[in-house]
Amino acid sequence: MADKRDYYEVLGVNKGASADEIKKAYRKLAKKYHPDLNPDDKAGAEAKFKEASEAYEVLSDPDKKSRYDQFGHAGVDPNAAAGYGGGGFGGFGGFEDFDLGDIFGSFFGGGASRRNPNAPQRGGDIHMHIDLTFEEACFGTKKEITISHMEQCTSCHGSGAAEGSHPERCSACGGTGQVKSVQRTPFGSMQTVRTCEACGGKGTIITDPCRTCRGEGIVRRSKKINVNIPGGIDNGQSLSVRGEGDAGKNGGPAGDVLLTVRVKPHKIFVRQGSDIMCDYPISFVQATLGGEVKVPTVDGSVVYNIPEGTQPGTVFRLKGKGAVKLNSNNRGDQYVKVQVEIPKGINEKQKEILRQFDDSVDPSKYKKRKSFMDKLKDLFE
Ligand SMILES: [Zn+2]
Ligand SMILES: [Zn+2]
Repeated sequence: MADKRDYYEVLGVNKGASADEIKKAYRKLAKKYHPDLNPDDKAGAEAKFKEASEAYEVLSDPDKKSRYDQFGHAGVDPNAAAGYGGGGFGGFGGFEDFDLGDIFGSFFGGGASRRNPNAPQRGGDIHMHIDLTFEEACFGTKKEITISHMEQCTSCHGSGAAEGSHPERCSACGGTGQVKSVQRTPFGSMQTVRTCEACGGKGTIITDPCRTCRGEGIVRRSKKINVNIPGGIDNGQSLSVRGEGDAGKNGGPAGDVLLTVRVKPHKIFVRQGSDIMCDYPISFVQATLGGEVKVPTVDGSVVYNIPEGTQPGTVFRLKGKGAVKLNSNNRGDQYVKVQVEIPKGINEKQKEILRQFDDSVDPSKYKKRKSFMDKLKDLFE
């Protein structure tokens, strides 16, 4: 799984493809590569089928699609960036809103029930927040998080039946999951088919439920997982950890863990995309004379030479001192805005020095003020 193919390429559609085009493309591939229709190359077909299902699962979900468009594979599966397979993609993917009944309905004349309780069902997603420091978001990090999800019960292997017992055929429906009833109406007798209430349509009944999961087949467990946070992620963006959500049913794949990033505000820095902004207060004397200042960066402080006569609001750039750009090794820049501070509460002696200084300065040294005064003169003359 070193190089994952681009999902658009997998489905053979353009980046701008509509939801409908994506669905059509997936249908075509799912039919072409369904393992049951490729008895000569089951394994090869299954791999293609899974790849297409995975691509469809992401591109058909507006949330995941936008993350994928923004961050590539890392946006929908941080493990992909680390170079090992997502894992947990058990069975065939993409069953949630696109079951095989849908695909094969067109082949075999339809009739497949959409909500078959025995059909594979994808497990639920788990939504969580992950807190990062400013620096962790800038550079990326590895985090161990504890999740609480539903896992297949190990005592009964998901069957829900106690050890040594098996789910039994439902006697109410004879194992079909449906009961027919005939009603007499003024227009003749009418036959209706409804889901068997005794077994909920499954066709089997658990007579001796598993003690561990009380017959549910799944149990809640907490688990520690490692998450790779890509450098350059920002507040409010989210990542998904594939296959670590709730277990699926009837062999369906597990859901995902969706992590929304919260970045703690920094005391000095503010992020703007991959750039970092900060203000730097200096005295009016420093601004006038210039000189070396120590500017904090996320890599530690650097010495910067403020030029003589620096104006308030001047912004200087420290190249490459910003955050990592998502999915690259490049970094943004740091922008430092000079704030010139005027001292308050100076003493009489200091005031006298300033008066002497002011008297000694030629008005042409104040460019803005001079040009303003010249304009004023023009106005009133
Ligand atoms: Zn169990
Ligand atoms: Zn039944």
